[in-house]
Amino acid sequence: MIDQRLDARLLKTRENYIGKLKDMGISSIRDLLLYFPRTYRDEQDFTRINEMKTDEVNVVQGKLKSIVNMRTRAGKTMTRAMLADETGELPIMWFNQPHLKQMFFKGSSIILTGKLKYERGRLMMMSPKYERPAKTLLHTGRIVPVYPESEEITSKWLRTKIHSILALAKKFDDYLPEWLLQQEALMSLSDAIYHIHFAKDEEHLNKARERLAFDELFFIQLLALQKKYLWRLETENVPLEIDFDIEPFVSSLPFELTGAQTRVIGEILDDFMNPYPMLRLVQGDVGSGKTVLAAAGIYASKVAGSQSALMAPTEILARQHYKNLVKLLSPFGLNIQLLVGSLSQGAKHDVLTQLASGTCDLVIGTQALIQEGVEFSNLKLVVVDEQHRFGVKQRNIFKMHGNPHMLSLSATPIPRTMALTVYGDQDLSILDELPPGRQEIVTRIIPESKRGDAYIWISDQVGKGRQVFIVCPLVEESETLELKAVTKEYCRLCEDVFPDHKLALLHGRMKSDEKDEVMRQFADGEVDILVSTSVVEVGIDVPNASIMLIEGADRFGLAQLHQFRGRVGRGEHQSYCFLFSDSNSDGARKRLSCMQKHSSGFDLAELDLEMRGPGEVYGVKQSGVPDLKIASLNDLKFLERVRACADKLIADDVMLENYPKIMNIIKEKEDALT
Ligand code: ADP
Ligand code: MG
Repeated sequence: MIDQRLDARLLKTRENYIGKLKDMGISSIRDLLLYFPRTYRDEQDFTRINEMKTDEVNVVQGKLKSIVNMRTRAGKTMTRAMLADETGELPIMWFNQPHLKQMFFKGSSIILTGKLKYERGRLMMMSPKYERPAKTLLHTGRIVPVYPESEEITSKWLRTKIHSILALAKKFDDYLPEWLLQQEALMSLSDAIYHIHFAKDEEHLNKARERLAFDELFFIQLLALQKKYLWRLETENVPLEIDFDIEPFVSSLPFELTGAQTRVIGEILDDFMNPYPMLRLVQGDVGSGKTVLAAAGIYASKVAGSQSALMAPTEILARQHYKNLVKLLSPFGLNIQLLVGSLSQGAKHDVLTQLASGTCDLVIGTQALIQEGVEFSNLKLVVVDEQHRFGVKQRNIFKMHGNPHMLSLSATPIPRTMALTVYGDQDLSILDELPPGRQEIVTRIIPESKRGDAYIWISDQVGKGRQVFIVCPLVEESETLELKAVTKEYCRLCEDVFPDHKLALLHGRMKSDEKDEVMRQFADGEVDILVSTSVVEVGIDVPNASIMLIEGADRFGLAQLHQFRGRVGRGEHQSYCFLFSDSNSDGARKRLSCMQKHSSGFDLAELDLEMRGPGEVYGVKQSGVPDLKIASLNDLKFLERVRACADKLIADDVMLENYPKIMNIIKEKEDALT
């Protein structure tokens, strides 16, 4: 019944409206009932005329003492009316709605909602919404649903039509089991669909929202957890049964581990004992010390007599890891090799031979690691740095090499709600503590009038040997425009601002070896000032760089600004982040001042999500953030409650054999959810 196509007779409308609905993706009764309001107007409280307040929306019921159509000098139609109740009279004015004169007469009862305004010295209600008094009000005097409109389909029209078929909401079959509804005190699906449109009161609306939000998140979590449990069931693995005495490694370190590092290393080592491979994502701010976690895992893998691989997104990062890991692990006699594109054929061949024979304990490299021809003798651990740069496909390639443990490191903190939604199929570790003694990076929003002073100060710092990043604004519309803008800025800086310093340009259109070469020059101090587009984001370590200047800062998200800022403050020198912005909007100012106030990437990610919402922060399509209609990703408690329910269902019934209705929906939704 609810899958029946909409037709003009059922909706008592003209045929072309059916086509217009179709253009909005609504073609069945089900679709129309699942077309939820975008927001609501709370108009439950009626006011009397003598109690009405100016500049507020008032709902008032009375009788028309008069109603006339007139023409303005500009030739428009104006309808003037006088409303009266027991307490007084109120003039009303509408424009371009002459039909009102046909609908209402002198003496008609009417309900009006609108704002009171002074117009030509008189208090009056301008262009109020109107409805006849009735047992069920749809457009006024209730919690009024407001729908996403198209150019031709208005919210008012939708209210009438949805209300006319609302009884069919009863036909929605509830797919959640009775015990779960009971346990969570959830409203039934059919009631929720009814009340999301025309709620009796706030309590019913809240319960309806709770139920529908629950469902949205529930299916996402079921799918994620199903993947997680299937990974465990299908991907057999022999536990690394070794004596996990990590002590020799820990005591060899030149520093004390932070509490967070100790905790996460524990989580990783526990994973090694499981009969299925680890699938763990570690999130930690830039500089929180993720490398040593990888090193601890690699150490354990070596103790167990197996090989490890570490993959980084760029050659320069791979080389940096190589240098650091050789330092951390060479006391334990590991044979560590580098595999990157620029190696000579002979050198590559040598590494490949060592990998296949098992003499190499750890290979560090770029995508070269997942090229054909790379064979391992006994691979047990793969570490992926900056995992958001690798797709699931690449992850699966490693799976073919004997189901190794997979550890991803990400320097992009995201709110936990987001992590559970997007990476809900992985175990999550949070490295939320920086090593002691880290300097605060001084962050300042610089007004345009101080630009000259800032340049003079920067030039002085360069004279003292410091290095500088200058990031140019994001141009979302086109990479070509962005390239043009950054090139222009680069020339301006070279010629007019810093003629005595050595500048270099970095942008996304450069080939990756060209980029690497520029980064190397900067890292080696051959370049003083690096002018770039947002490509500078990925984690290169230049301890001598102490100034980050960001142009058009309001165009970047907080997470990205935080990433940029993390490029400095890595050495002994006090570091600075300067933000320029030509936007005066309140939102932009508020966001940039968050950068001044907060230094934790996790805090900034939360704030960004709160202020801008998931779609804008993470870009719904690219990041796998689902398009949530009702649920909010700002409510961690609720999400954890939903996840716990999903876990309860799926932990011992992975294929949901006891819940065929749910399984059917998952099958239907799988495409939309992944
Ligand atoms: P990231 O999380 O950005 O990858 P790294 O692993 O590169 O961070 O660590 C940043 C710096 O902090 C390195 O120089 C590393 O040696 C140092 N470091 C890591 N852990 C600690 C610690 N517990 N105490 C002091 N310094 C540490
Ligand atoms: Mg790192």
